[in-house]
Amino acid sequence: MNNLIDKLSRKHNLSYDELYFLVKNSTKESSNYLFEKARLISNQSYGYDIYMRGLIELTNHCKNDCYYCGIRKSNRNAERYRLTKEQILECCNAGYKLGFRTFVLQGGEDFYYNDDIMADIVSTIRTTYPDCAITLSLGEKNYNSYKMLHNAGADRYLLRHETANNDHYSKLHPSTLSLRNRKKCLYNLKEIGYQVGCGFMVGSPFQTIECIVEDLIFIKKLKPHMVGIGPFIPSKDTPFADKKAGTLQMTLIVLSIIRLMLPEVLLPATTALGTIHPKGRELGILAGANVVMPNLSPKDVRKKYMLYDNKICTKDEAAECRTCLQKRIENIGYKLVVSRGDCKYI
Ligand code: SAH
Repeated sequence: MNNLIDKLSRKHNLSYDELYFLVKNSTKESSNYLFEKARLISNQSYGYDIYMRGLIELTNHCKNDCYYCGIRKSNRNAERYRLTKEQILECCNAGYKLGFRTFVLQGGEDFYYNDDIMADIVSTIRTTYPDCAITLSLGEKNYNSYKMLHNAGADRYLLRHETANNDHYSKLHPSTLSLRNRKKCLYNLKEIGYQVGCGFMVGSPFQTIECIVEDLIFIKKLKPHMVGIGPFIPSKDTPFADKKAGTLQMTLIVLSIIRLMLPEVLLPATTALGTIHPKGRELGILAGANVVMPNLSPKDVRKKYMLYDNKICTKDEAAECRTCLQKRIENIGYKLVVSRGDCKYI
């Protein structure tokens, strides 16, 4: 097993069968070796710097009905909200003072924010904070909408592919959504010139080891600038309410393999990882992650952006999150930096 891990650290790639073996047969001991190698590569690429992104959850209205997601259209119990342009700018203002140089606008697929409204929000942030990166995570759009938002000043786009296996995709989503379109969106975003993030949930219902290996191979081929990986966590009021959550161990294994496959990729230790284990985000960093994404959303809407149950940090102010994360990160010998935190290979 350690030979395989050495080979992956040297070549940044493995065959399907080798990846399958690695994911399937990882033991506690071998995975510690894997994490150590991933940490080393992460240190070579980014030192001990951890980049932060301020997450602004602008809407929980969504036209889609993904079976895993707490803000899916059919969830009648979700209390819906939208942030106004002024509220969004206030979040950026508070975030800027706290040292954030990347704002991530994330939300459900909400018709209210049409291209004109969104482009206006983006261009106002662009002119107010010329030294900041603007990341969007607003789901699937057509080429021209992505292009318009890029022209308005958005630099990056996060669109998790969710799973690279067609069958699996259809077990997580209604038939109105397709993997083919999701992938097309990712390639369009790349072509337009965005820094692109894909990713998936570890331990989502019906995921097999084959699915994970296909995800890894897809990610290697797409060569994104970012990869968002977190455990699946069941959400009440969804069809998957009674399914099991993904594990800490498997999430860390996947994170570290991605770090070894793409040495310079930006890899967040996600809020979901922090939700399934009190030290989840720290362990993520120690397995090769180099980004954290604390919440900048107004306190009164935080509880409403519930993609999954028991989400952490829904009661804290942005400043509290910032201080708490800084302490956590310093405790493991890393530092939070004030920087846009661009990917090394753009
Ligand atoms: N509407 C946007 C943003 C989705 S929310 C889009 O389509 O990209 C961001 C991510 O949260 C999703 O891509 C999904 O991978 C994750 N997520 C949703 N429900 C989840 C759950 N129950 N557990 C863990 N992660 C979840």
